[in-house]
Amino acid sequence: MKKHLYDGFIKPGKVFGNIYFVGTRPASTHIIDTGEGLILIDSGLPETLWIVLDNIRELGFSEKDIKVILMSHGHYDHAGATLDLVKLTCAKTYIGKDDFKMVNGQEDTSLAEIFGAKYTGAFTPDVLLSDGDIVTLGNTSVLCVSTPGHTDGTMSFFFNTTDGEKSYLAGMHGGVGTNTLTLDFLTKNGLPFENRKKYIDGINRIKDKKVEIFLGNHVKNNNTVEKLQRVAKGEKNAFLAPKEWKAFLEERIKNLRIIIEREDFMQNTIDMILKEKIIVIVRGIGSDKLLDFATAAYNGGIRLLECTFDATGNTSDEEIASNIKMLADHFEGKMLIGAGTVLTEKQVELTKNAGGKFIISPDTNKEVITKTKELGLVSIPGAFTPSEAVAAHNAGADFVKLFPITSMGSRYLKDIKAPLSHIRFLAVGGINADNMAEFLSVGACGFGIGSDIANKKLIEANNFAAIEESAKRYVKQIEIFENSK
Ligand SMILES: [Zn+2]
Repeated sequence: MKKHLYDGFIKPGKVFGNIYFVGTRPASTHIIDTGEGLILIDSGLPETLWIVLDNIRELGFSEKDIKVILMSHGHYDHAGATLDLVKLTCAKTYIGKDDFKMVNGQEDTSLAEIFGAKYTGAFTPDVLLSDGDIVTLGNTSVLCVSTPGHTDGTMSFFFNTTDGEKSYLAGMHGGVGTNTLTLDFLTKNGLPFENRKKYIDGINRIKDKKVEIFLGNHVKNNNTVEKLQRVAKGEKNAFLAPKEWKAFLEERIKNLRIIIEREDFMQNTIDMILKEKIIVIVRGIGSDKLLDFATAAYNGGIRLLECTFDATGNTSDEEIASNIKMLADHFEGKMLIGAGTVLTEKQVELTKNAGGKFIISPDTNKEVITKTKELGLVSIPGAFTPSEAVAAHNAGADFVKLFPITSMGSRYLKDIKAPLSHIRFLAVGGINADNMAEFLSVGACGFGIGSDIANKKLIEANNFAAIEESAKRYVKQIEIFENSK
């Protein structure tokens, strides 16, 4: 396991009426005391089942009284413990019909690996739920509404509960995580983009329900922990929050839209790299000359510029970030600015905050790649061998910088491309206007060009006209190659 799950312990308690929280930090589990046995919503992780059982007993109930296990969806953290729990209780299991494949072991999509585990809890559910089904036990009838997106079979639950005087509607959205709706997740798992629309449609179907007791299937959804503490202190109605339901669900739609926007933004940078093909590498040019240099490069047709961090530490990361910001502000997207020689996650953050759009590294560092994608930037790690290139690609790289390429020549790129045609390579190190076409013809997507354009002598001499000319020479080569195709 990634983390010791004992950290997941949360003191169980009454939520409202006949509803109790017995779950853990990784995932919520609720029980409803129906008078004729317990309904349990989500079994949680197998690794935390002992905590859930302990919690049930702590509240004076017994797992033997669980008659119904309702699962919001088939992921490991919601249905992983069901198999073991059934052995202890003989309860009947219910899950949305389209998550059948997820829990019966037909398809390894339970996300168990995220929790550092292997899914071994395959079971055959007793009842496959469809939209509008009602599950009744004792005094409680749970309406099941299909709200797919997070998974195909995600079900949301609604039922009435009472404090002895008045009846209130309790509700739980069965899966609000947008983690399964990102470009990366959808493409890697071959899932349809339509899932995003389903997610939004599902929320729109239920957000106007007058839910007064808002239940979360993760504690952060409804601040379960804080509310349980308030209940423990004697506040009866801590979970009575009629406005929270709709606000929370609308926020979820917003969250998905932000993700989509960020991906469009990334796509924009990717498209620009694919089209322009030349990234000019700026190393060690002081901020006094930087804008003049960048303007000359821009006038010469350059549209992508990389400011490198200084691994020697002579120039601070903050100073490089302020250069990136100055250029990004100045060019306002007409020329895209990124960072090079990025070796740390902190440098990725600095670049993002400065308005940089892409992250280039000399090496394949998983943490840097992950951080880059998390912040919505384009990832271009460096690799030399096929193993490094594949590792970079699998970690989420958008392009792989084949570096240093000079000593190997274009033949090396050609050979490496043969089995790895799905990876987009940029050739960096020793590329010049004369050999660019050669690399393009064997499949290079683009180049990093350093001192040939960012020529220190010319910069020192303020000869920006010459810099513009050499930029033009490079851009011309791309044009010639494109026209020759
Ligand atoms: Zn899930």
